[in-house]
Amino acid sequence: MGLFSAKAIVLRTINLSETDKLVILFTEQYGKIKCAAKAARKVKSRFGAALEPLSFISVIYFGKEKQEIFRLNHSDVIRSFHWLREDFSKFYTAIYFNELMDNVIQEGQRSPECFQFLLDAFEALKDTTQLETLRRLFEIRIMALSGFGPRLNQCVACPRVPEGNILGFSFRMGGIVCEKCLRKTRVELNIRAGTLNYVKKLINMDIRHCQRLKIPKSMEKEIENVTHRLVSYNLGRELRSYPFIKQMAAL
Ligand SMILES: [Zn+2]
Repeated sequence: MGLFSAKAIVLRTINLSETDKLVILFTEQYGKIKCAAKAARKVKSRFGAALEPLSFISVIYFGKEKQEIFRLNHSDVIRSFHWLREDFSKFYTAIYFNELMDNVIQEGQRSPECFQFLLDAFEALKDTTQLETLRRLFEIRIMALSGFGPRLNQCVACPRVPEGNILGFSFRMGGIVCEKCLRKTRVELNIRAGTLNYVKKLINMDIRHCQRLKIPKSMEKEIENVTHRLVSYNLGRELRSYPFIKQMAAL
């Protein structure tokens, strides 16, 4: 039996019984883990509000190293990101980020870079008015961080650097297709060179400076077609929280 101490973001919780909760945590030190939290559903739970999804907490848990479910012993809130709970659009965006992270991170896989990125994303949500841009940046970056980053500077079917105004984008081949190859290659999407430049900016930009990037309205849909479809293509399905975001945006 080992006792572990870690910093963690609460990805989601599942009710195990009338009193107990299963908590899925993304820890900085040990990657994604599952912990059973005894009596966490009781009104006077010793875990307090620490086990709410999106909370950044410190935890102590125990179990065997390769065990599937650990036992949560103690938790303290480090940051609750209260601004996420005061604005529905921001809240659902954060839930979407959480769900996306939950899907790309394997259990027990350490990824301090992804951990920091998720924290930065919650921070970035605080002051932003550009939620759409933030979501696009999160999508493309999380794909890049988990090894699904598309090739954007060179054609995926030949070594050429495309120069045309209209290019192809292939999810299957993982990047852009030049104007020549486009004549003989089936692609899922056409993309304007100007739009591609914004996607390139998004993939490299610090999420905390996202506010500085002003994406023209006319390009928003095209960028979503690249970054969001890249996510659903690689995960093989649509995420549950995404339709809520679309509904919010339509209001
Ligand atoms: Zn080509």
